[in-house]
Amino acid sequence: MTSNPIADPSPAAGPIQPVELRSENRFRFRCHPGIACFNACCKNIDITLTPYDIVRLKRRVGLGSKEFVAQYTIPFEMDSQRMPGLKLRTKPGTTACAFLGDQGCGVYEDRPVSCRYYALGSMGVRRKEETNVEDIFFVVREPHCLGHEERHDQTVAEYRAEQGIERYDAMNRAWRDIILKKRSSGPTVGAPSPRSLQLFDMCSYDTDSFREFIRSDGFLDVFDVSDAEVEVLARDEDKLLAFGMRFLNQVLFGEMTIPIRRDARERRIEKRKAVWAARRHDAVARFRDDLERQKYGE
Ligand code: SF4
Ligand code: SF4
Repeated sequence: MTSNPIADPSPAAGPIQPVELRSENRFRFRCHPGIACFNACCKNIDITLTPYDIVRLKRRVGLGSKEFVAQYTIPFEMDSQRMPGLKLRTKPGTTACAFLGDQGCGVYEDRPVSCRYYALGSMGVRRKEETNVEDIFFVVREPHCLGHEERHDQTVAEYRAEQGIERYDAMNRAWRDIILKKRSSGPTVGAPSPRSLQLFDMCSYDTDSFREFIRSDGFLDVFDVSDAEVEVLARDEDKLLAFGMRFLNQVLFGEMTIPIRRDARERRIEKRKAVWAARRHDAVARFRDDLERQKYGE
């Protein structure tokens, strides 16, 4: 199963069928436990994970975001802009998914969106001169998958509803659009700085650290977010993820998605002054101690 929700596939390449589908278009496919190839697709995977995949899977296996990423993913660079991505890990020494068990998928209710889509692929396309990103779909036909031979067809919309994809797409859309925007702005905006790549990584894949970040003085000194809002975000991980995308649009593209405190600059200067004053005070105290010691020949 090869699937990348933010890929830029050439329709003529590999198993991707060179026909663009829209929601109302029909395609022939059915997957079910009785089919001879059952789980064959999970034995050879190359799956890029989305932020909402990580949130669902980490909850499922009861791990924090950092621990989940370390245990179940492999980092890679998604494009020439070096945007950090994560692939789902395979079982040691094999190409089979880490979650594949004797009875099939061990995380079925929380399986990644790529697994839900298969054997469809999806792609966001921004046409020339247009600002909106359009969703298009295509059939992925790999030789081991017998689902294409089944006598069953449905529209793309019916398939997406049946597979529970809509919630995933709604949660991941802002993230996908950020990546597309970054790619298309390329040389105009310049290569992302190491700091912006770190922030992208945290907002996309490490909700636990982002939760701590928005509670920090450094964040609250700059952004005008009420205590009540911070508490809601701290409790509701889905809202936190959506807020992270607003934050990324602000730091990567300068969009004013989160209000800035009017006195943010003054507060930062006051804080810096306080730090310098404390350092000066410590240095003077150390100097006095040294003098005292010298005086008494210690
Ligand atoms: S997460 Fe489940 S459905 Fe997806 S590849 Fe792994 S075992 Fe298969
Ligand atoms: S029909 Fe295709 S998607 Fe379903 S189990 Fe077989 S290989 Fe996997």
